[in-house]
Amino acid sequence: MRSRAPDCPAVKGFLETSFVDWKGHLAFVVFLGGCNFRCPFCHNRDLVLNPGGFEDVPLEYLVATIRKYKAHWIDKIVITGGEPTIHKNLFTLIGLLKTEGLSIKLDTNGSNPSILKGLVNDGLIDCIAMDVKGPLDRYSRWCGSQIDEEKIRESIDFIMECGVDYYFRMTVVPFLHQEDDVYTVATELQGSKDLIIQTFRPDITLNPAYEGIKPFSPDKMARIKENVSDIMSGKPWTRDRGLRLPGTSFRGTEELYQ
Ligand code: SF4
Repeated sequence: MRSRAPDCPAVKGFLETSFVDWKGHLAFVVFLGGCNFRCPFCHNRDLVLNPGGFEDVPLEYLVATIRKYKAHWIDKIVITGGEPTIHKNLFTLIGLLKTEGLSIKLDTNGSNPSILKGLVNDGLIDCIAMDVKGPLDRYSRWCGSQIDEEKIRESIDFIMECGVDYYFRMTVVPFLHQEDDVYTVATELQGSKDLIIQTFRPDITLNPAYEGIKPFSPDKMARIKENVSDIMSGKPWTRDRGLRLPGTSFRGTEELYQ
């Protein structure tokens, strides 16, 4: 049996059911390997750095499993990574899954606006979740790679205007981000539908130095989310609005930025 169709990207794993990968929905999740970013806080380290270390899931097996779950309660699939849009043949895989009659959500880092546009224009995508790593003017700092910030902006603009459902997400990482950075991102995304603020998880990280960083407390995260919600609803953010939390100078040692 052939392990995958020759023009599909290799599937590196799947989750039959997830409540957390498509906001408000139960979904089947498909993982693709590799990424063009090196976010130091990434918790998919092996999938990003060593996708060849994972066996390919045979496409026939994937489709058979999706059909089995579809027969009961699944009508949505999330395509995630790594970064799915680095695979130029992503269209083939999503097209194939779409013929199963399921809605598709794409997780992306926004670095490939032309692929995003192609997928949306071909009617292959029902929802997009884009991870925004930090303020646009220092993007390489957040994502660990030299990238074209204009492409990130282009993806954001396209997602907001394309008519497909979407939301943005940001993971708040002590020492990497200052609190001001979170509010700058919220300001840059004003007018968009939603920005979900996520708590950093230090269990496995791409840069091992990040495994020693403690996430912010639930109280502090709740206050940050409240401030972000205010900004997203149109309130202007300025440093003198009192949004800065006490004692939050988050910059750390240089090894955290490598
Ligand atoms: S967190 Fe960063 S490095 Fe990890 S998969 Fe997402 S974009 Fe790639």
